[in-house]
Amino acid sequence: MKKVMFIGAHPDDIELSCGGLMKKLKDSGVEIFPVICTWGLYGGIVSERIKEQEESFGLLSIKEYVNFNWRDTEVAVNGENVKSLEEIIAEQNPDLIFTHYPDDTHQDHRAVAEMVKSICYRKNKSLIYFDSNSSIGFVPDYFEEINWFEKEGLLRNFKSQIDRSNILVKAGAKNRLYGIQSGKDFAEGYKIGRLIGGIL
Ligand SMILES: [Zn+2]
Repeated sequence: MKKVMFIGAHPDDIELSCGGLMKKLKDSGVEIFPVICTWGLYGGIVSERIKEQEESFGLLSIKEYVNFNWRDTEVAVNGENVKSLEEIIAEQNPDLIFTHYPDDTHQDHRAVAEMVKSICYRKNKSLIYFDSNSSIGFVPDYFEEINWFEKEGLLRNFKSQIDRSNILVKAGAKNRLYGIQSGKDFAEGYKIGRLIGGIL
C-alpha cells in the first residue's frame, strides 16, 4: 500500500473516525491524501476550522490535501460533484479509499458516501467505510488497534468542536468499545465496501 485517500464531508470527520489509523499509516511510510468536501460553515467559524484542520494535518506531516469548499449541509449528489471527486481520485490514484458509511443521518455524509461508492465500483477502486457518529447500523468487520493517546492529541486540535460536539468523549467511548470487541485496549472499526487485494 503506497497511497491512501480519506474522503470526509466536514473538517474533523476523518480524524474522528480514522485518526488512529492515519497516524499508523503515516508512521509506516504510507502516503495519505485527504479530501474534505466542505469547511463546515454551520459547525463553527470557517477561519477557525481551516486553522484547526491544517494544524491536524501538520501533526500528521500531511502537506497536501483538497477541500472542495462545497456548501455545508447542502452537499448534493450531482454530475458536477461526481466529476470533482472522480478527477481527484484519478489524479491521485490511491491504492485504497476510506469514506463515510452510506447509511447515515447526516445528509452530507450520505451524499459523499453515495458518490464515492459509485466511483469506486466504476473505477475498480478498493473502498472501506468509516464509522461517523451519525452512522446507522454500523457493524465493523475490520478493526484496527490504535494508540488512543496519540489520537486524542490529534483531536485536541479541533478546539471549536470539543465543547460544541463533545468529540473527545464520543471518539474515546467508541474506540474503547471497538477495542473491547476486538480484544485490544482501543481500536477503530471499519466496514469493507470492496477490497481488491489486501489492506497493507
Ligand atoms: Zn461530518
